Amino acid sequence: TEAFSANIAAAKTLNAFIVETPDAALAAADAADAARASGALKPLSGVPIGMKDLFCTQGTQTTAASHILEGFVPQYESTVSAKLWSAGAGMLGKLNMDQFAMGSSNETSAFGNVVSPWKAADGKALTPGGSSGGSSSAIAARLCPAATGTDTGGSIRQPASFTGISGIKPTYGRCSRWGIVAFASSLDQAGAMARTVRDNAILLENMAGFDPKDSTSLDLPVPQWEAGLSSDLRGKKVGIPKEYRPDGLNPEIAALWDKGVAWLKDAGAEIVDVSLPHTQYALPTYYIIAPAEASSNLARYDGVRYGQRVLPDGAGLQDMYAATRAAGFGDEVKRRIMIGTYVLSAGFYDAYYTQACKVRTLIARDFEQAFTQCDLLLTPTAPSAAFALGEKQADPLAMYLNDVFTVPASLAGLPAMSLPGGLDSAGLPLGLQIIGRPLDEQGVLNASL
Ligand code: GLN
Repeated sequence: TEAFSANIAAAKTLNAFIVETPDAALAAADAADAARASGALKPLSGVPIGMKDLFCTQGTQTTAASHILEGFVPQYESTVSAKLWSAGAGMLGKLNMDQFAMGSSNETSAFGNVVSPWKAADGKALTPGGSSGGSSSAIAARLCPAATGTDTGGSIRQPASFTGISGIKPTYGRCSRWGIVAFASSLDQAGAMARTVRDNAILLENMAGFDPKDSTSLDLPVPQWEAGLSSDLRGKKVGIPKEYRPDGLNPEIAALWDKGVAWLKDAGAEIVDVSLPHTQYALPTYYIIAPAEASSNLARYDGVRYGQRVLPDGAGLQDMYAATRAAGFGDEVKRRIMIGTYVLSAGFYDAYYTQACKVRTLIARDFEQAFTQCDLLLTPTAPSAAFALGEKQADPLAMYLNDVFTVPASLAGLPAMSLPGGLDSAGLPLGLQIIGRPLDEQGVLNASL
């Protein structure tokens, strides 16, 4: 814990943490010493963990990287973080992120962008990806051994890919959403981020599990993923979806994918070609459904219940709402709220939202169909290596396109992991994605091992 704290102090320019809580981590370390002495070590005794600032932590400010929540100190603990602490882990701090988890580069944070510890060949500062960019940057820079992330459309997998680490989004419903600031509730899922697949298995095992406080939580036992790890893929079929190889796919990404195929063959897997015909509709579907749900979820930030309040002199209630939201939300969050309210409005609901829900079903059926021919899917995680900070900031559509390979599994609620695939010709990390059947985190972890 002291070593990680020293690393944090030496790497302030990465801007990975919003709040540091070294005392909590040290208390867990002391408890681990005592537990070791009495022979009662827990699975995560003394392990210092970084928490994405989307998880409510009792007594520690939780902001979702938005000014509207500045100063909000939850009186309760999220289920996921409570599980980690009861497994013996300690919190090193709250990690920076895209505001309300909306973004792919960490540039929408109200606390300034996170910087990747990797640098472009020309020396330009790179994005650590987003929205869990504080988590990915901190792990890659050795500021913490593991961190939590959340993934609504790729926010664990894409940052993992950009920084050369591993990250897993489990099946929707595996981790309780209770106490996690909501973005798009039918998509939001907490998951693990760490350098190795084994560390991901250990962390996820101690985050997952049924929670009666989340109505979409799965009432199933948590498998022993770490104990079940095996790199023997004999008898497994891995599908290669042809729609993920569009014309103009970056040749370095295509080469990475071929390398992944060779690795899986070496491990004994059989490779089969499959088709996911509705893939091209996944991005537009996601960018209707996610903002629709966000516009509803974010209605609660009204200046009355949480965090910031802006009350101009002589203002009435409506003016207070408007002034608070105008000052508190960042531009990307406002864009999502406006898109969301538009697609849910009486005149457009059927044309956009209902239609998107139907297409979502078609996308989920594509996967069901593919999984009759294979056990797992292998794809690239992102269409490029990390891009320079500022490069896509002025062009939201270019930013959204970065999520093209991650959103389909989110829409279908499937477990998916990004693992490091090596470096491109510029020396930057690239990630491979393994997608599994519902509840087959074990298969995903094993293929990633
Ligand atoms: N980049 C996607 C978005 O901006 C995904 C974010 C996420 O998974 N939280 O919505």
